[in-house]
Amino acid sequence: MSAKDYTSYSFWLETCGDDLTPRPPLDGSADVDVAIVGAGFTGLWTAYQLLKRDPSLDVLVVEQEIAGFGASGRNGGWCVADFPLHPAVLTKRYGRDAARAVALAMIDSLDDIERVLADEGIDAHFSRGGGMEIARADYDLPLLEESFEGYRSLGLDKHVALLDKDEAEAHLRIQDMTGAFWMKEGARVQPARLARGLARAVERRGGRIAERTTVLDYAGGAPPKLMTDRGEVRARRAIVMAGEAYLSRLPKLRRHVIPMTSHMVVTQPLPAHVWEKIGWEGNEVLYGHGTMAGYLNHTADGRIAFGAYRGTYPFGSRITDDLDRNDDIFAHARRAARVWFPALENYGFTHAWGGVLGVPRDRMPTMGFNPQTGVALAFGYSGEGVATANLSGRVLTDLLTETDSDLTRLPMTSHQPVPWEPEPLRALGVNLVRRSRYKENEQVERTGKYSTRPSLAARVFNR
Ligand SMILES: Cc1cc2nc3c(=O)[nH]c(=O)nc-3n(C[C@H](O)[C@H](O)[C@H](O)COP(=O)(O)OP(=O)(O)OC[C@H]3O[C@@H](n4cnc5c(N)ncnc54)[C@H](O)[C@@H]3O)c2cc1C
Repeated sequence: MSAKDYTSYSFWLETCGDDLTPRPPLDGSADVDVAIVGAGFTGLWTAYQLLKRDPSLDVLVVEQEIAGFGASGRNGGWCVADFPLHPAVLTKRYGRDAARAVALAMIDSLDDIERVLADEGIDAHFSRGGGMEIARADYDLPLLEESFEGYRSLGLDKHVALLDKDEAEAHLRIQDMTGAFWMKEGARVQPARLARGLARAVERRGGRIAERTTVLDYAGGAPPKLMTDRGEVRARRAIVMAGEAYLSRLPKLRRHVIPMTSHMVVTQPLPAHVWEKIGWEGNEVLYGHGTMAGYLNHTADGRIAFGAYRGTYPFGSRITDDLDRNDDIFAHARRAARVWFPALENYGFTHAWGGVLGVPRDRMPTMGFNPQTGVALAFGYSGEGVATANLSGRVLTDLLTETDSDLTRLPMTSHQPVPWEPEPLRALGVNLVRRSRYKENEQVERTGKYSTRPSLAARVFNR
C-alpha cells in the first residue's frame, strides 16, 4: 500500500502533515531488550517512556501497517482524564482508595502528555478545555449528577463541575441543551499528529519501528518471542502486546478482547457567522446521550468532527477494511450533528471514516506484566484510550523496570482478563445488548424517563 492509501483511513491521517510512507519492515530475526506489538498510542507511549527511563534499552516496535494506522490515528481526539470505568463502578469493584488512585493517575496522564508534547516539539493541536457531558433534555440531568457524584465521592470535586443551562451556554450553544457535566482535566488533540509525532520521538531516543510486519503468534519464556511474517524477535526483558482490538486476531488472545467499530464524520471548514451562532470558543470536547448521541470535537481549521455511538461487532471478531465504511452510520452521524447544531444545515461534510476499538468482557483495561513469562499486556479501553494509553505506557515502564510505585499498585496491573463467550453466543449477546440500548433510547425519548432497571438483554449477558 502506498503512502497515499494510508491517508484515506481518516481525516486526521490525511491532514497530519507527516510522510506516511511505511518504514522498512523487520529484516530477518532480531534480538532486543523489549519488543512491542503495535505502533498505536499504547505501544508508542510504552516505547517512549521506557527509553526516557533507560536510554540504553534496545526497544523495537513491530507494526503490521504504519504508526497510527489503528484507532490511534482515527479517533475523536477526545483526550480526557476519564477512565473507561466510571468511578462508582471502580469503587464498587476495588474500593474507594483504588478508584481515587486511578482517577488521579488519569489526571497525571494529561499533564504527562502535555509535558512530552512540549519537550519533544510535537504539535498535536493539544489544547485544554476539558470534556463536557451534555444533557439535551431534562431527563438526562440525573446522568450528569451521577457523573459529578462519582468524582465528588472520591474527593475530587475541584476537577469537575455541574453546569446549568446558562452556565453551559457560556461555553457553547447546542440545540435543546439543558445542562452539562464538565470534567475539567481534558484536551482536544489531533490524534494522528500525536501518534506520528510520538513515533518520531521514539526514534529520536534510539527506538526502532518496523512497519508492514505482522506478528502472527507469541510465546512467553526465556526469552519471550514474537513470531512475525518476517522473522522472529527474541526479547531479553519483555514482549509487550499493545495491539488493542487487533489482539483478538492472535489465537492466544482471541477471547480477551473484541473489536467494536466506531465511525466519524467531519464538516467542511465553517464560516465565522456559523461559529458565532455556536460559540465554542474554548477547546472543550463533548459527548451526549440518546438516539442522537455522539462524541464531538472541533478542529484547528474550523470544522466540527462528530462521532456516532453506533458501534457494530463483526461476527468472529473478524476485522476487515469494510468495517470502516458504513453509509447508514455516516448518514446518521451527519443527521445527528445537524440536530445538535441546526446552523450546520447548509454545510457539507467532507470526510467519513471508521475504525475498531477493543472492548474487554468486564470493561476493565488490563495493564499487566508477568515477569515469569516476560509477557506484558495493555489493552481494553472501550473507546476511551487516548489519555488511558499514556497511563498504560507509564504503568508498563514501572513494571518492566521493576520500579515499585503507586502506578504498579493500580488495579489494572493485577487484573485478569475475563474471557468473552465463544461464537455464536458472543455475537448474539453483543448485538442483543446493543439493540436493546437503542430501543431503550427511543423509549426514553418517547416517555421522558430512563428505566431504573437494565434491559433483559443486559441482565442476561451481564453487560
Ligand atoms: C473512530 C474511533 C473514535 C474514537 N474516539 C476516541 C476518543 O475521542 N477518545 C478516546 O479516548 N478514545 C477514542 N477511541 C479509542 C482510542 O482511539 C483507542 O482506545 C486508542 O487509540 C488505543 O490505542 P492502542 O495503541 O492501544 O490501539 P491502536 O491505536 O488500535 O493501535 C494498535 C496497533 O497495533 C497494530 N497491531 C495490532 N496487531 C498487530 C499484529 N499482530 N502485528 C503487528 N501490528 C499489530 C495495529 O495495526 C495498530 O496500529 C476511538 C476509537 C475509534 C476507532
